[in-house]
Amino acid sequence: MSVSENFRALLGEIDLARARRTVAEGEPITLVAVTKTHGVELMRQAIDAGATDIGENRVQEAAEKFPSLERNVTRHLIGHLQTNKVKLAVKLFDVIQSVDSIHLATALNKAAASVQKVQDVLIQVNLAREVQKSGVAPEDLPQLIDAVDAANNLNLRGLMMIAPLVADAEECRPLFCRMRKIFDDLKPTRTGFDLLSMGMTHDFAVAVEEGANVVRIGTAIFGQRP
Ligand SMILES: *Cc1c(COP(=O)(O)O)cnc(C)c1O
Repeated sequence: MSVSENFRALLGEIDLARARRTVAEGEPITLVAVTKTHGVELMRQAIDAGATDIGENRVQEAAEKFPSLERNVTRHLIGHLQTNKVKLAVKLFDVIQSVDSIHLATALNKAAASVQKVQDVLIQVNLAREVQKSGVAPEDLPQLIDAVDAANNLNLRGLMMIAPLVADAEECRPLFCRMRKIFDDLKPTRTGFDLLSMGMTHDFAVAVEEGANVVRIGTAIFGQRP
C-alpha cells in the first residue's frame, strides 16, 4: 500500500473509533503523521495525501528536514527535549508536546521570549509510571501546570501521554480513560486548553474511543521504521 492509501484508510479508522465514543462526540481529531527516521520524500507523500500535521521526535532531525516543508503544515515535537536544544526547538516547532519538568518549562519560556514567540506546549504525563519513559508523574502535574501558567511565553494547549507497549491495546483502555478524566477536569477552568494527545499505531483506536483528540501515527502510514 502507498502512503496516500495508508493515510486515507487511517482517517477512516479514526472516524470509526470516534463513532464508538461516549465522550465529546463529533469533536475533530488531529492526525499527526510521525515522520521520524523517514526522508523528506515520504513526508511529502503524506502531505500530498492530506496530512496537515507532522511529528518528529528529535530536534536535529527536524532541523534537517523541515526547511523543505511548506509553512502551512503544523509541526509537532513529540520526543524528549533537552534544555540545550530549546533555542532550536522554539524556532522549528509549532507545538512542543513533551514538556515534562519545571526546569524544561523555564528554559523553553526563556528561549521563546528571546524570539518573541508564544510557544504552544503540551505537558507529557507518565501516567503508567514507566521508569524508562519521560513525562511528569501525575502527582507533580499541578505544580508543573502552575509553572507553565506563570511562563508568559508558553501557552498550555493540553496533555500528552504515551501508553505502555503491550500485546493487546485493550489493556491500556483504563489508562486512556483516566487521562481523559484528568484532561476534562482541567479544561473548564482554562482557555485554549483543547488538545489531548494519545494513541499510536498499535493503540490509536482505543485511545480515540476513550477521548484522544490528537493521535501520533508513524508505522500505519509509512510502514516499519528502518
Ligand atoms: C514514534 C512515535 C510515535 C509513532 O509511533 P508508531 O507506533 O510508529 O505509530 C508516536 N508518539 C511518539 C512519542 C513517538 O516517539
